[in-house]
Amino acid sequence: MPKFIGAIDQGTTSTRFVVFDEQGAIVTYHQMEFEQHYSAPGWVEHDPYELLDSARACVEHTIRKMSIMGYDASDIQCIGITNQRETTIAWDTLTGQPLYPAIVWSDNRTTDTVKELAAKSEKGLNALQSICGLPLATYFSAVKMKWMIDNVSAVAEALDQSRLQFSTVDTWLIYHLTGGLDGGVIVTDPTNASRTMLMDIHTLQWSDEALSFFGLQGMQLPKISSSSQELGLISDGSLKGIPISGCLGDQQSALVGQKCFQVGDAKNTYGTGCFMLFNNGDSPVFSKNGLLPTVAYQFGSSKPQYALEGSVAVAGSSINWLRDNLGIVSGAKEVNELAAAVNDTSGVYFVTAFAGLFAPYWRSDARGTICGLTQYTKREHLARATLESVCYQSRAILEAMDKESGKPLRSLKVDGGMSNSDLCMQIQANVLGIEVDRPKMCETTALGAAIAAGFAAGVWKSIEDLDKVNAENHTLFTSQVTDKKRQSMYGGWQEAIKRSFGWAAT
Ligand code: ADP
Repeated sequence: MPKFIGAIDQGTTSTRFVVFDEQGAIVTYHQMEFEQHYSAPGWVEHDPYELLDSARACVEHTIRKMSIMGYDASDIQCIGITNQRETTIAWDTLTGQPLYPAIVWSDNRTTDTVKELAAKSEKGLNALQSICGLPLATYFSAVKMKWMIDNVSAVAEALDQSRLQFSTVDTWLIYHLTGGLDGGVIVTDPTNASRTMLMDIHTLQWSDEALSFFGLQGMQLPKISSSSQELGLISDGSLKGIPISGCLGDQQSALVGQKCFQVGDAKNTYGTGCFMLFNNGDSPVFSKNGLLPTVAYQFGSSKPQYALEGSVAVAGSSINWLRDNLGIVSGAKEVNELAAAVNDTSGVYFVTAFAGLFAPYWRSDARGTICGLTQYTKREHLARATLESVCYQSRAILEAMDKESGKPLRSLKVDGGMSNSDLCMQIQANVLGIEVDRPKMCETTALGAAIAAGFAAGVWKSIEDLDKVNAENHTLFTSQVTDKKRQSMYGGWQEAIKRSFGWAAT
């Protein structure tokens, strides 16, 4: 009898349900996009029910595909959940219903909330850094929840009446998949909780000090379980009775899916945004180089592992911007074709700082900037500059990581939608001067959640059992430019990035 493992990957722009076999090969999957709501400049919302419905629909479509292949839902031993992180849902504990749309991680409506919070502490943006490791930023869940309490009367009332449930996307999905009001479990894992600003990164418990700093005492919080343990059973649909036994935020899940279990292993995921994580062992590192400490994973009752993280806010979404806002390309395929039609950008740099810059710059006053336009510039150059932008920002993060570890990285594991572009990955190798390693099976985010779930269900017993998982058919990209050329390309970027600073009022 086959032993399959399922993973729900609830991402920023789409949801997938992927079924893996014990070798980590995909048996089958289904993916669905869902709507992004941009109700005001800088605002990004999702409908929590659409996220849930898309997960359920992906499961049912996948099971149908499996049955055509001669398999049965009962061949799935367990499932893992991985999800877009920081996205925040406030729900009513009496009804189980959301009180407001989900505020997405990239939403920056909370700029003023951040300023107000920073003004409360002499440590400014670092008010809570010693507790949660994170600076105050529009990015993190507690700031979004504070905004809802200040601006949405239904949320404030629910807090007053002790029926406000704080939730990230993992908690929302698991609650409903395990029965909702009818016995659904309200849990999260340390990787998701480490992105809220409310969890003590040392103890992996909710911090009273952080809660009181945000004025969130009295809010109901999910229980923090480990990333790999049985959390609950699915209550209906084709997977009824199957355990959910893995839960990881999407970036940590990709780290696990890329098998970055050794200190010094790093991966970079090029999705809507781009996220580099570096496994730094069993205690958090507080970076002086603009990187953030985060929980990498905690399997069962073993010690948690930590990572240093550097994020780029705009990666694949810059391609969507060329398509949807400028209308100059039909999609990613055309961007690649155009970019490949020229040998370089002819001096054009595109700093995709649409809503400021994340690591290692942390400039909320930066805005998107295109430098070096001439009469000669064509959309081919702009397309190539768009691909290059994420590669330069990744280099800046990698340099920060190298400084932090004192040992330069020799190879970078990559995944995510944009890593499908051979050209982009070749540019990345050129810009970094180190090997870029892309597995053929790129669903590493889903694989990570499946690994976490499979460990808890006994499908795999140790990290060594994973040796053959997704080990074959990697593509290695190595630099095709000289050091001199690399330095001059990156030198131009460093000039361009300075010009993006200060466009928005701080
Ligand atoms: P997420 O998990 O954040 O929703 P994905 O990993 O699915 O994102 O990646 C989606 C992004 O990848 C999109 O913004 C898309 O423009 C980009 N993308 C997909 N395929 C390619 C490609 N071949 N070349 C460049 N970018 C691509």
